[in-house]
Amino acid sequence: MAEPARTSAQRTRLPLAVEGLVDKKTAGKQEGNALTMKGSLVITGGSRGIGAATAILAASRGYKVCLGYLRNEVAAAGVVAEISRAGGQAIAVAADVGDEAQVAAMFDRAETELGPLCGLVNNAGILESQAVFSAIDVARFYRLLRTNLIGPFICAKEALRRMSTARGGAGGAIVNVSSVAARTGAPFEYVDYAASKGALDSLTAGLAREAAPVGVRVNLVRPGFIYTEMHAAGGEPDRVDRLANTIPMARGGKPDEVARAIVWLLSDSASYAVGTTIGVTGGI
Ligand code: NAP
Repeated sequence: MAEPARTSAQRTRLPLAVEGLVDKKTAGKQEGNALTMKGSLVITGGSRGIGAATAILAASRGYKVCLGYLRNEVAAAGVVAEISRAGGQAIAVAADVGDEAQVAAMFDRAETELGPLCGLVNNAGILESQAVFSAIDVARFYRLLRTNLIGPFICAKEALRRMSTARGGAGGAIVNVSSVAARTGAPFEYVDYAASKGALDSLTAGLAREAAPVGVRVNLVRPGFIYTEMHAAGGEPDRVDRLANTIPMARGGKPDEVARAIVWLLSDSASYAVGTTIGVTGGI
């Protein structure tokens, strides 16, 4: 015998009606819901590559995006224009992540022009020319640490100060962008870069546990080999293609594929994810 037709109310209550299984505050509020306007989001290194893809995706999901950059004003303006064309809200701010005063000024502008901070993506990162370990000098290692480790540290302090519920903030989320190099060590290429990312992993683990009680979720994304301009900075623009046959999926990743993991960790859909790592590596 055919089942009696359910009313739409009955349909939506199955299985949501199971008490306790669904948080009524977040039910139906997917990370993809562009209608939910969110607070301001600072994305460092938002002018190019993974940061630019994250800025565009986050803006489409209702975040008001402040994208930081170092010196490529044209690229940063291009990302802002693309977000504006799509109906989103964004500003670009030149701020060296290794400089405390510049970082504080960037967060001030984000909150003044876009509203209270709800998230940070610590994405800005650099590498230098491919080199064997013995050819890496101390000055270079300091430069790497300044941008890849001290920078995220300074930005996370600013963000935590503003979002912490213990200081009157509304809580929020921080996503740090590490690298698969933290696991492999990048021998014969970038051991200094890999070490800076390994330290960022540890910083994330500790901060995540300190920040969770004050309403701030901190997590990590570890990209593998992604098609961006970063590899040219290392002296090998086609590095991703050269390494493709070492990747189980036999191809490099696209910035947008990393952006989706970052934006998920920022979102309410990741409401119980703390101190976790998402690898976006094609299987490396
Ligand atoms: P990218 O294309 O080279 O872009 C780097 C971004 O960082 C640019 O927006 C740049 O600004 C900004 N930046 C550099 N130094 C800065 C500083 N001191 N202060 C502020 N901003 C600064 O890099 P990407 O490949 O997208 O990489 C993004 C993140 O993913 C990095 O943390 C990187 O280590 C990580 N990652 C990348 C890969 C990969 O295969 N691409 C793999 C693993 C991890 P300007 O435009 O002004 O120069």
